[in-house]
Amino acid sequence: MSVLSQNRFKQVQEATAASGADALVLTHLPNIFYLSGFSGSNAILLALGDVIHLFTDGRYTIQAHEEAPQARVHIVRTPLAETCGEFLRSRFPRRRLRVAFEAASLNVAEWARLKKAAGHGIEWKATTELIERIREVKSAEELEVMRLSAKLASEVIAEASDFVRPGIAELEVAAEIDYRLRRKGASGPSFETIVASGPRSALPHARPTEKQLQKNELVVLDLGAILRHYCSDLTRTVFLGRAPARIRGWYKAVEQAQEAAHGALRAGVTAGSVDRAARRLLNQHGLGAYFVHGTGHGLGIEIHERPRVGRSQKQEIRAGNVVTLEPGIYVEGVGGIRIEDEVAVHAGRTEVLTTAPRGLLEL
Ligand code: ZN
Ligand code: ZN
Repeated sequence: MSVLSQNRFKQVQEATAASGADALVLTHLPNIFYLSGFSGSNAILLALGDVIHLFTDGRYTIQAHEEAPQARVHIVRTPLAETCGEFLRSRFPRRRLRVAFEAASLNVAEWARLKKAAGHGIEWKATTELIERIREVKSAEELEVMRLSAKLASEVIAEASDFVRPGIAELEVAAEIDYRLRRKGASGPSFETIVASGPRSALPHARPTEKQLQKNELVVLDLGAILRHYCSDLTRTVFLGRAPARIRGWYKAVEQAQEAAHGALRAGVTAGSVDRAARRLLNQHGLGAYFVHGTGHGLGIEIHERPRVGRSQKQEIRAGNVVTLEPGIYVEGVGGIRIEDEVAVHAGRTEVLTTAPRGLLEL
C-alpha cells in the first residue's frame, strides 16, 4: 500500500473505532473510490482489520486489480450485499462483531440482504458522513488535481465568445461546452452543464433547452470538468450586447458579494459566517430577496461535498477545504446573474483555483 493510501486507511480505521465499530462496510461509490482507488459502478467495500475487501462483479475483474492493488478483490456472482454478509458470517461464526455501515447510501433491499446474510452475530451501527468528514480535507496531491480540473473548466469558459452568440440554442451551447471539456482531457462534465438565457436565467438550476439566445439577454453558464476523478465548478454570466446600467449595477453587487464571502473565508470561521457576508452585501444593495440559495459548497470527488456554505451552517471551515463561492440574484421575468469560483483554504491564506476573468462578459 502506498504511503498516501496507508495514511487514508489509518484515518478511516480511527473514524471507524471512534464510531464504536470494529469494521466498516462502504456502499457509497465515491467513498469506495477514495479508500481503494476502484472507480467501477458496482462495489461494496469491507474494511476489516488491516485488510480492505472489495466485492464487485465479473465486468470489473481486470479494472479492480489494476485500480485497487492493495485491496483483496472478491469477484462475485450473487448480489454484493449478500456475499459481503456471508463473508462476515463465515469469518466470525461465533464472535460478536460491531460493523458500521453508511445509512445514507444503503437502500432498504440491500440492507435487508446484508443483515440476513450476515446473521445474528453482527451488531450494526448506522453512520453518516464518516468518510465524508475525512474527504473534506484535501491532501496536497488532491489539491494539485483540483487545480488542473479548475483550470480546464476555466479555459473552456474563456472561449465562450467563440460559441455564445444570438441565434444559437442553449442546447448547442451546452453541447459545445461539453465537447470542449472532453477535448481538453476531462472524462466528462461534473454535472449537467447549465446554459440559461433571458428570463430562463432566473432559474438557478435551469436545464438547457431549444430556446435560442437573443440580443440583450443575460446568459448564465455554469459548468465543470471531471479530471482524474476530481470535479470543478465555475459560473460566468454573459450579456449579449451592451448591458444597461441596471444590469451592470446588479452585476457589480454580485461581484462584491462574492468578494465579501472570499474576505470572510478562512480556517476557523463557521461556514455560516461566510454565507452571511455575501448575504449582507446583497441586502445592502436591496437585492437580498433575490438571492435564493446558499453561497457555496465543498467539492472534490463529488460535485457537492462538505462543507456546505449556507446560512445556518455551524460547521467550521478547515485548512484543506475547497469550496465554491457562488452568490447570485434571480429576478423573475428579467433574468439571473451568478458568479462562481472555487477557493481552497490553506492555513493563513486562501487560493482561488478557477482562473477565468471575473467581470461581466459583453458579447
Ligand atoms: Zn456551478
Ligand atoms: Zn456550484
